[in-house]
Amino acid sequence: MEKRHKIYEGKAKILYETDDPGLVIQYFKDDATAFDGKKKGIIRDKGVVNNKISERLFKELEAAGIRTHMVKRLSDREMLVKRLNIIPIEIIARNIAAGSLAKRIGFDEGTVLPRPIVETYYKSDALGDPLLCDEHVFMLELATPEQLNAMRDTARKVNQVLTDFFAERRIRLVDFKIELGTEYDATNGDLLLGDEICPDTCRLWDMETDEKLDKDRFRRDLGKIEESYAEVARRVCGDDLVAGAQT
Ligand code: 5GP
Repeated sequence: MEKRHKIYEGKAKILYETDDPGLVIQYFKDDATAFDGKKKGIIRDKGVVNNKISERLFKELEAAGIRTHMVKRLSDREMLVKRLNIIPIEIIARNIAAGSLAKRIGFDEGTVLPRPIVETYYKSDALGDPLLCDEHVFMLELATPEQLNAMRDTARKVNQVLTDFFAERRIRLVDFKIELGTEYDATNGDLLLGDEICPDTCRLWDMETDEKLDKDRFRRDLGKIEESYAEVARRVCGDDLVAGAQT
């Protein structure tokens, strides 16, 4: 597999072309941003940890019948993935009120929701990722009604699988964001899970103490950021992945 030129650089990852037009290399950076890029920083070894956590979670989801873009992890910071046409909708599933939901509807953070909910946001940095109604989705032609239903069904299934997976590791899955897309040369509308699933994209709380083990530690200046990411990696992947982050 030959790594070719950079095709896209995002806030946390870089995508490189390969000699296969259907495959790209996803490179995980240590850069961290929050609040629409207004807060910037580096979380040491985050790229290594998120690559390995994503690999483990994608494997778990594939085993449960959910298709993902992952082909294989290539190195500490690189994952070979299928090239997707990403639908510009961020799907968020929530089990416990936190973050923007707590703020929007006035629930105390930590309130367990009567049942999991799934929301749609416009993936647009320029607009600050606003919440979308279905009418907005169809007016903007971001997805068909069938695709939107499929995206919500996938989010619910991902939520079930990952809630159980994390609970076995004494972690509460509070909420998470996923992105989906069609394969670049697809002749059908089948959706694959793309991007990454890791402490940057999920809220994860220790089950005994409710201690936050995710990007909120960076967003809210809570300290012990590297240690928390490494703790999630230890529980999810079963070993101490990043020796440097333990100190
Ligand atoms: P909230 O809407 O409460 O800010 O976020 C809900 C969940 O989705 C959190 O787990 C958060 O980390 C994730 N999330 C929402 N938007 C983004 C985003 O633009 N980037 C990343 N990495 N995660 C997001």
